[in-house]
Amino acid sequence: MSTQILVSDIQRFSLHDGPGIRSTVFLKGCTLHCPWCSNPETILPQPQPMVRNGKETICGKWMTQEQLLEELLKDRLFYNERSTGEFGQLPGGVTFSGGEPLAQIEAIAPVIDALHEEGIHVACETSLYVGAEKRDRAMELIDFFYVDLKILDAQRAMRFQRGDVGLYRKNLDALLHHTRDGKRLPVVIRIPVIAGYTDDQKQQNAVCALLREFFEKGCPPLKAELLKEHSLGAGKYRSLGLPVPGYQGVEDALMESYCRSVRETGIRALVCRV
Ligand code: SF4
Repeated sequence: MSTQILVSDIQRFSLHDGPGIRSTVFLKGCTLHCPWCSNPETILPQPQPMVRNGKETICGKWMTQEQLLEELLKDRLFYNERSTGEFGQLPGGVTFSGGEPLAQIEAIAPVIDALHEEGIHVACETSLYVGAEKRDRAMELIDFFYVDLKILDAQRAMRFQRGDVGLYRKNLDALLHHTRDGKRLPVVIRIPVIAGYTDDQKQQNAVCALLREFFEKGCPPLKAELLKEHSLGAGKYRSLGLPVPGYQGVEDALMESYCRSVRETGIRALVCRV
């Protein structure tokens, strides 16, 4: 091991980024630029100045693979605790998030291998806006996927997220069809519902049509989580000297009706609020 990995933060004892108790590694650098991003400090693929508690600091740290592994193994006792949760008897472990964790998949691959040698479960939170090579490598290595489902209209996705929806659709199709040891990989879809970007009826219909397609093909995700817009990232924009997005908020009634429409596709769905 020797390649460096750009890490924004490591959050310990996380309970919402996969089964059990986990360490979440926020990798820095993203392939998208969503205007509502709640982790704007993870977008640039390089360290950058940030003001924290009134003090200037640098966000982003290059770590060797050995350093990152050593840091993650400090909490190994917690990872191995098995709890019976909604995904069955799975242990805790490590989740790679971001930014876009698959953008650094080659750099983190030896860390994932080493975690597996220790019997540690590995998840990721991805937007899937990466090339086929990185996607395939992730499908070989990672045990559990959270996948965002963002703007589906090609022109709006390019304009607002700077992303190619065609690439996303291909990657999602490949992931949901992929099998390892004869079994499909566990995939949870996360749907951010953001006023003015992803809350309109056309987008809701497109999301439901896509999910129905996978249900009918016999390769549905485990479930869909609808994430209600929040403004918790506002302070980070100020710390980075960036304009704060104009959060408008989404009504609970819209979240509930959207969730009912997703359930009608045959896929389990629930609303998540921060
Ligand atoms: S994909 Fe996630 S981390 Fe990247 S810009 Fe969008 S919201 Fe932010």
